[in-house]
Amino acid sequence: MNEPRAVIFDLGKVLLDFDYSLVAQRLAAPTGREAEQIRVLLDHSPLLFRLESGQMTTDAFYREVAALTDFTGSFDEFADIFGDIFAEIGPMVELNAQLRECGVPTFIFSNTNDIAVRHIRANYPFFAHFTDYVFSYEVGAMKPNARIYAEVERRTQLRGAELLYLDDRKENVDAGAERGWRVVHHESPERTIAAVRAAGLL
Ligand SMILES: [Mg+2]
Repeated sequence: MNEPRAVIFDLGKVLLDFDYSLVAQRLAAPTGREAEQIRVLLDHSPLLFRLESGQMTTDAFYREVAALTDFTGSFDEFADIFGDIFAEIGPMVELNAQLRECGVPTFIFSNTNDIAVRHIRANYPFFAHFTDYVFSYEVGAMKPNARIYAEVERRTQLRGAELLYLDDRKENVDAGAERGWRVVHHESPERTIAAVRAAGLL
């Protein structure tokens, strides 16, 4: 089998770790509310789904979360709190750099939102070093919905086994595999890097 012609990276828990309990603690502190109650409002919640599938503006999201949590700060203060939840996963950032040195196009493919993307762009230089970006809130569909996978194929002009896709969520890699993409269910940088080498890259 030929080598893949591009590598598709999921973002959360693959290139960047994230922790919504940090937002919950910051929002809860001034109000005396339970942080756990606020975390449930955010992480994998219907509210976040609406934001990340493009069904809700960031401003409407801010207003709704502020009302639910008694947050009284401005949108910019909210965006700082909500955006600052990430930590770089060094070996995976390095993997992207090595692939690009080898001339392999790399892409980001993420269920995410505008607040997170702005924060990441401003704070993580590695994020600039991808060929293109497919974000759920821009496409109006979230992984594992087939529509957003079709968008990756359109942007890359590649399909099937030409694509090697890395994601930590099983349902997401399964949806890629169904289209004939080569997939790696990301569990650790060590395993994923070995799988990328085994595919003939690096
Ligand atoms: Mg992920």
